Amino acid sequence: MSQFTVLNPATEQAVTTLTQASAEDTDAAIGRAAAAQERWRAVAPGERAGLLRRFAAAVDSHVEELAGLEVAGSGHPVGQARWEAGHVRDVLLYYSATPERLIGKQIPVPGGLNVTFHEPVGMVGLIVPWNFPMPIFAWGMAPALAAGNTVVAKPAELTPLTAVRIGELALEGVLQVLPGKGSVVGQRLVDHPAVRKIVFTGSTEVGSQVMAGCARHIKRVTLELGGKSANIVFADADLERAAATAPYAVFDNAGQDCCARSRILVQRSVLDRFMELFEPAVKGVAVGDPASPGTEMGPLISAAHRQHVAAYVPDGAPVAFRGSAPDGPGFWYPPTVLAPVGADDPAYTEEVFGPVVTVTPFDDEAEAVTIANDTPYGLSGSIFTSDVGRAIRVARAVETGNLSVNSHSSVRYWTPFGGFKQSGLGRELGPDAPDAFTETKNVFIATEP
Ligand code: NDP
Repeated sequence: MSQFTVLNPATEQAVTTLTQASAEDTDAAIGRAAAAQERWRAVAPGERAGLLRRFAAAVDSHVEELAGLEVAGSGHPVGQARWEAGHVRDVLLYYSATPERLIGKQIPVPGGLNVTFHEPVGMVGLIVPWNFPMPIFAWGMAPALAAGNTVVAKPAELTPLTAVRIGELALEGVLQVLPGKGSVVGQRLVDHPAVRKIVFTGSTEVGSQVMAGCARHIKRVTLELGGKSANIVFADADLERAAATAPYAVFDNAGQDCCARSRILVQRSVLDRFMELFEPAVKGVAVGDPASPGTEMGPLISAAHRQHVAAYVPDGAPVAFRGSAPDGPGFWYPPTVLAPVGADDPAYTEEVFGPVVTVTPFDDEAEAVTIANDTPYGLSGSIFTSDVGRAIRVARAVETGNLSVNSHSSVRYWTPFGGFKQSGLGRELGPDAPDAFTETKNVFIATEP
């Protein structure tokens, strides 16, 4: 039986040791989920809604405990961790409205009428990455459960604690959480024919393998993958606001964010002024002990990941300025701004997934759009301008799934989330998310005598 020790990324001390699920454990969980599936889909809509609200209330009464686990096990600043636990509750409440609103259509046809039903797809396998263990877990499991499916979830090996605890608060059999390796538990969920849909969030590389695995069974799949998003600042923007928010657009969660705006594009005529404003904003990010209430940025998730991030800033890299990071134990890395960077610099072309941002000038709107789109990814981005027409034009031209105008954030559970190009397939969140966990059934009813 393999064991895994969760480390506190801020101290490098062991938090706890968990037993990892095996392929046989995964098969057993799939068996339990299959048995629960028939019962769960038969629960009356109002009752299922009530059970989801009860689950949300259970999460609500454990927000502090869950936040504490995320601080210790993932290094998330405590304010952020509390928000994340509350977000799980909110997402459950939002989708608790689903069971009573899975409304089909009535379609007039010659000789009768057709009606459509939204049937649950069946058992769903949910594979979660380490960067946002609670929100990403909630985005998959809440609409899946609401639509009448059972869920077997695999949290990331490095950050299983909060998902395991939330699983303990859920209805038995309907939601099961299996800590373990992607190559074992995750792979089994992909390969097992009884799992009817996979919701995967993680790297583009593993996502493509997951998609290939799902293809063997014609298994439904949603993929939320990497990003290399642009934060485009036009000369007519409120530069103070753009510069003050830009650090949070990329350094939140220590840059371990698929939506990180890790390329800042600034119109050349205001580049110097933007950098003057941006420097104190970067140096002002409070990096430190995640358990302390004022902390804005914690450590990276692991020593290996810090090494990966640091490789993007080799000796001689064009560091314009940096924020601070604590000395001593912990996987710390300071907020780092690179400029000017070459178009072939890996920090500019690849997803860093750490607190490293590049700043690149552009001359006009067309060039800004060309640069923003010059990436295989298309997940997120921001546009800062005071010209509404330009904001809409550029938002329509940038090939990404989620954009914000004069704001650094674009992810809300009320609105659809997902990527263009290699950033993913399908959408999560928003009012239509439960549809992705149902099959549409069409039934003809003859009305002629
Ligand atoms: P990985 O792709 O390495 O892992 C993601 C999850 O997949 C983990 O639970 C992992 O398990 C599991 N996994 C690994 N191998 C397999 C396999 N063969 N079959 C099934 N599951 C497997 O990504 P990271 O965890 O390193 O997350 C970082 C990446 O996620 C970044 O590229 C980031 O952009 C992306 N991401 C995308 C988001 C989006 O919504 N678009 C949101 C958040 C992150 P294990 O932990 O055991 O390796």
